[in-house]
Amino acid sequence: MKDFNYTIIGGGCAGLSLAYELDIHKKLDNKTLAIIEPRLKYKKDKTWSFWKVSSHNFEDCIKKSWQNFSINIPNKTKYLECNDHPYQSIDSGLFYEKIINKLKQNKNISFFKDIKEVKLENSFIFNSVPVLKVNEDSLWQHFCGVEIETKNNFFDDEIINLMDFDCEQRGSVHFFYTLPYSKNKALVETTWLSKNNDVSQKDYAKQVKDYIENHLNLKNYKITYKEEGAIPLFYPSYEQEKNKINIGTAGGMTRLSTGYTFLNIQEHSKYIRENIENISKTKKFEISKKYQFLDGVFLRVLRENPEMMPNIFFKMFKSSSKTAIKFLSNKSNFLEDLSIILKMPKWTFIKALFY
Ligand SMILES: Cc1cc2nc3c(=O)[nH]c(=O)nc-3n(C[C@H](O)[C@H](O)[C@H](O)COP(=O)(O)OP(=O)(O)OC[C@H]3O[C@@H](n4cnc5c(N)ncnc54)[C@H](O)[C@@H]3O)c2cc1C
Repeated sequence: MKDFNYTIIGGGCAGLSLAYELDIHKKLDNKTLAIIEPRLKYKKDKTWSFWKVSSHNFEDCIKKSWQNFSINIPNKTKYLECNDHPYQSIDSGLFYEKIINKLKQNKNISFFKDIKEVKLENSFIFNSVPVLKVNEDSLWQHFCGVEIETKNNFFDDEIINLMDFDCEQRGSVHFFYTLPYSKNKALVETTWLSKNNDVSQKDYAKQVKDYIENHLNLKNYKITYKEEGAIPLFYPSYEQEKNKINIGTAGGMTRLSTGYTFLNIQEHSKYIRENIENISKTKKFEISKKYQFLDGVFLRVLRENPEMMPNIFFKMFKSSSKTAIKFLSNKSNFLEDLSIILKMPKWTFIKALFY
């Protein structure tokens, strides 16, 4: 078995983003890298969306960018702008293809299917396979999205519907999310925030069909793609090890109040690349403690008062949309944090501090 300077366990979003970042900055010209990934074939399996609050390497994998979004609760709709930080959607199929094609040109990078094929003792490891300790209180964001196509123009492709809470809640938090890629193509997703990845909420096909046909009032369409997933809204457990850094979901890159992970993964990759020569002594990269604390309180409110959440999300956008976006994307300053916090129901949040 061969020795490698670096090993990346899991060639998904975080593993490939890191390998690409190291490769394009020439950090692998004199070092070897093993990537361990069991999947047999890469194909589109996710759509990564986010407000672009920082730069990334994948502008050419963007399906569409928007500068307007809306959020709904029953009988109320708020229309907002995001000119400074457009909302972008990345096609994972284009992302995988771009990275794999680039990495294959570097003779110092080798791909393996199984960890047993690589000698790890002398390698620095970047691990993206999470160890999740799940209990009955664990919160998840679970969802199913379908891309649909219509014969005639139907959608306003200038504006996304970020959260439509005007739907059944079943004692949890539930909303629909619509990303119109063009006037006749859109992703429509049903999303739940609930304990234990609740099986009783997984009649996704029925939920999506009902929403498209009876809420959007669209009868003639065909489904061209489907994605399903669950994002843990808790941090994976890990042990600090001298020669290992966890990345991606495993590395705590998910913002727990939103599930947004993609841009944090990109920032983590950049940080590792900047410090790669001294990586075993470099300070751990993490989502700032301020957001870890605030998200902890937020999720306690969500767990105890799911029925309040549509209003709470709606109120969050009562501040300027720029402030809310920066807050939800870990880029807000103290005054911006304060302006969001002051919009929240005070007693509910104060009580949640002591749960
Ligand atoms: C369907 C879906 C949609 C999402 N949409 C968004 C979004 O819009 N915006 C956003 O910011 N975040 C989103 N996320 C959250 C997050 O960005 C993604 O989950 C992202 O893929 C996380 O990257 P990762 O590398 O940690 O995990 P993954 O991309 O899942 O990569 C982990 C890799 O490890 C491999 N693997 C598994 N077991 C082993 C093993 N034993 N040995 C070696 N390799 C192994 C897997 O095959 C996989 O390729 C979404 C998540 C899902 C599931």
